[in-house]
Amino acid sequence: MEESIKQIKTFKLLNNRILQEGVCLDGGVLKVDVFINHQIDPYLMKQVSIEFIRRFADLKINKILTVEASGIAPAVMLGYLMELPVVFAKKRKPSTMSDMYHTVVHSFTKNEDSALVVSKDYLTEKDHVLFVDDFLAFGNAGCGIVDLCRQAGATVEGMGFIIEKEFQHGREALKRAGVTRIESLAIVESLEGNRIKFKGT
Ligand code: 5GP
Repeated sequence: MEESIKQIKTFKLLNNRILQEGVCLDGGVLKVDVFINHQIDPYLMKQVSIEFIRRFADLKINKILTVEASGIAPAVMLGYLMELPVVFAKKRKPSTMSDMYHTVVHSFTKNEDSALVVSKDYLTEKDHVLFVDDFLAFGNAGCGIVDLCRQAGATVEGMGFIIEKEFQHGREALKRAGVTRIESLAIVESLEGNRIKFKGT
């Protein structure tokens, strides 16, 4: 009972923040710079992480994976609470990195292709990975992570997103790529007419 009350509070907290402070931009983009993408609310990140821990409690995970930059805040909070290492895929190959896995993904917000690289030192066949990110849109970043993990022989145990834009169908793309556990904390059904409509409301 107490568990479900906490869960409802997290939903309300997140959905209210999105409604009150989110801004709809053209082309199906939701701007949440006030608490995720520019200014970061650590308390909200903590609540979000606690909810991820609850939802993925049955999985055996030894590493949190994310992509730079906006995934790092929730990933670090989750890694801190779960006492697990956090690795972020970089969008450019650093000159200091020699041996790495590499893939190319399309960025919907920037409308350009970019690299995703992870050093072979930090992703191996021993890893059971939970991938977390701020948004699930078309699933391009998530599919890139699946590719990097496949190259490394690592297992993707699950993927968690703070906000899913359901109308961009990323969940289907991730399922097609073989991801079996996907959890999103706020699911936006539509941004039509610059109005944020959550699933089931
Ligand atoms: P996907 O890879 O699923 O197509 O898109 C997710 C990635 O693009 C996330 O890493 C996120 O940073 C960015 N993104 C996609 N849609 C939005 C959006 O509506 N707002 C913001 N701020 N970022 C988004």
